[in-house]
Amino acid sequence: MTTALRVEDLSAGIDGNQILKELDIEVPFGEIHAVMGPNGSGKSTLCHVLTGKSGYKVNGSAELAGQDLLSLDVDERSRLGLMQSFQYPTEVPGVRLREFLLESADERGIDHQVAAERIEQEAERFGMERFLDRSLNDDLSGGEKKKSEIFQIVVLQPKMALLDEVDSGLDIDAVRTVAEAVEEMRSPDMGILMITHYSRILNYLDVDRIHVMIDGQIVDSGGSELADELEEGGYAALRERLGIEPEPEGGPMRKPSDFFTETPFDI
Ligand code: ADP
Ligand code: MG
Repeated sequence: MTTALRVEDLSAGIDGNQILKELDIEVPFGEIHAVMGPNGSGKSTLCHVLTGKSGYKVNGSAELAGQDLLSLDVDERSRLGLMQSFQYPTEVPGVRLREFLLESADERGIDHQVAAERIEQEAERFGMERFLDRSLNDDLSGGEKKKSEIFQIVVLQPKMALLDEVDSGLDIDAVRTVAEAVEEMRSPDMGILMITHYSRILNYLDVDRIHVMIDGQIVDSGGSELADELEEGGYAALRERLGIEPEPEGGPMRKPSDFFTETPFDI
């Protein structure tokens, strides 16, 4: 078994709005893949559809380590080994990070003692010791929240991790710290799909492949030269090279989250 995530012909719509359009993507175990794309191209929708958020009309196939995902409920997908880190991690006052991890590990059938030891070990590796007895994400900075999410993934050891906009809202130093944490979490038993709309984070870690998503499809995949091309000419130049129609006048609808980020790629 070498493929952590295999997505084929995946289409998804909501409220009559077709967002993902026969999308294909594959992430082998041990690799880190980046998905880049302008706002509104469907990156978060891909995460939602894979993790099983309700409300979408879905067609196509998605497999986790060879097992069908789309027929499973959210919790079954999680137990099978799919985990997502969120763009805006929720604060849970009153629930300590350590307790949360022990409960989650228990749900996944990880022995209590093994989980407790892993928490200590990984907390040391990721510099998370001082957060273990604080409430989950409560009063953490943006960068600390992202690091906490990565730490949780490392402790729970899913087969596949989806990191949605791992770098948005972070200052330049935090981007570097989070990128290093992503590189540190690389494991032969896990695939990582890291969603970003900056190329900046790619300066700090070695991704195996970059995919560009436009209008609900992966339109190009490649190595670091693709990020360089985007850095140079933006998505407009890529659209031109690939013969994709330019964005409609006014560009995509902006969401509030877009205004909290620095130098977005597509502006
Ligand atoms: P990205 O994460 O790449 O910025 P999203 O996946 O959040 O993009 O959104 C893709 C498109 O789907 C956007 O045009 C967005 O407005 C639309 N969309 C997302 N959620 C819904 C919804 N619940 N109903 C209708 N349209 C939606
Ligand atoms: Mg998004």
